[in-house]
Amino acid sequence: MAFFEPPLEKMRPAKIEALQLQRLKKIVRYVATRVPFYRKRLKQAKVNSDPIGKLEDVQKLPFTMKDDLRSNYPYGLLAVPIEDIVEFHASSGTTGKPTVVGYNRHDLETWTRLMGRCYAAAGARKGDVVQNAYGYGLFTGGLGFHYGAQALGLAVWPMSSGNTKRQLLFMKDMGSTILASTPSYALYVGEEAKKEGYNLEKDFKLRLGMFGAEPWSEEARRKVQDTLGIRANDCYGLSELYGPGVAMECEEQHGLHIWTDEFLPETIDPATGKVLEPGERGELVFTMLTREAMPLLRYRTRDLARIDMEECECGRYHPRIMRVTGRSDDMLIIGGVNVFPSQVEHVLMGIEGVGEWYEIIVDRDILDRLHVRVEVDPKFYGSPEFDPQILQQTITEELRAVLTVFARVELLKPGTITRTEGKAKRVVDLRKQL
Ligand SMILES: [Zn+2]
Repeated sequence: MAFFEPPLEKMRPAKIEALQLQRLKKIVRYVATRVPFYRKRLKQAKVNSDPIGKLEDVQKLPFTMKDDLRSNYPYGLLAVPIEDIVEFHASSGTTGKPTVVGYNRHDLETWTRLMGRCYAAAGARKGDVVQNAYGYGLFTGGLGFHYGAQALGLAVWPMSSGNTKRQLLFMKDMGSTILASTPSYALYVGEEAKKEGYNLEKDFKLRLGMFGAEPWSEEARRKVQDTLGIRANDCYGLSELYGPGVAMECEEQHGLHIWTDEFLPETIDPATGKVLEPGERGELVFTMLTREAMPLLRYRTRDLARIDMEECECGRYHPRIMRVTGRSDDMLIIGGVNVFPSQVEHVLMGIEGVGEWYEIIVDRDILDRLHVRVEVDPKFYGSPEFDPQILQQTITEELRAVLTVFARVELLKPGTITRTEGKAKRVVDLRKQL
């Protein structure tokens, strides 16, 4: 069961491209006739009625931004009547109105199949018991991981997020083998298990984690794997593009396969919109090739990553995202220097004695100030090697070397930072409140 849809997952690059071209032609005609927003956009971009001759012609098409979803709120981007919709999801924006996404029967089936592929690629097998700790509701995580597990024939516990004590009880008593959650919640679960007196090795059968919905570093992966004693695989998606399941890490754990028969990927320079060469790091852009209820052309994700075209050992030819390293939206400008929170995490997780929880706080006195509050690893905290001064100095120096800006480092006792049960809020920019 290494593959869920072998012919599509093992498809050779030339065949994938032929399929993408055929689908791209069709979807452009489809949106031009069905979605007034796109009809207008294509006209503005001076794109004729049949603009796609080869795959690169996608570059003639206009981008779609998150703002376009907001300005067409709530139903303006739907290409089908409400009577054809079978499910809606919405994500909360930072300001005001939610971002609405609709699915018809075809879309829901497609999403389910893609999630089935994700589980299979990560190494899920018949007999696995999935404990799904993603939030069920408007957020796509819960139902996405739910449908995918069922598609593969796995048993799902629809736990939803939160109530960690109950999660641990179920994990032990029900013999869950797969945990689906955000990576930060997985770390929290590991910590709580120890606190509650569970023996992670003896009490749990957990072997695999399906983690996504927030960017995390390779070092964070190692911590999750060590803490829970499992293999932790990365899943990528966006609620605007079905939800989770755009790309998934296979058992090789070397990049996330994009299901390119459904999503045509590009990387662009986020500042200029210029399309980059394959393999260059930039903002990920996806054209949804078959979604019927709400097709999106060249959707700008704001996520920064590099796409690798090399063949993978697992037998899949779908190109891989080499880990999302940050969001262009998350970039902090501190005293004129670009700082990505992911860089801070990368530094912290590589230093012995640093715990899994940290906070980045930015404020402004006369100049911008960067504070990094970081918990000491509980194992290290009581040990004779622990010297707060040395640890603080090491962190300060390493951050400065990587970020080129000074950060005031504060060491905290283990357990000081408020734990979250969904996406971790690691960055607080107080300048925005001034
Ligand atoms: Zn692979």
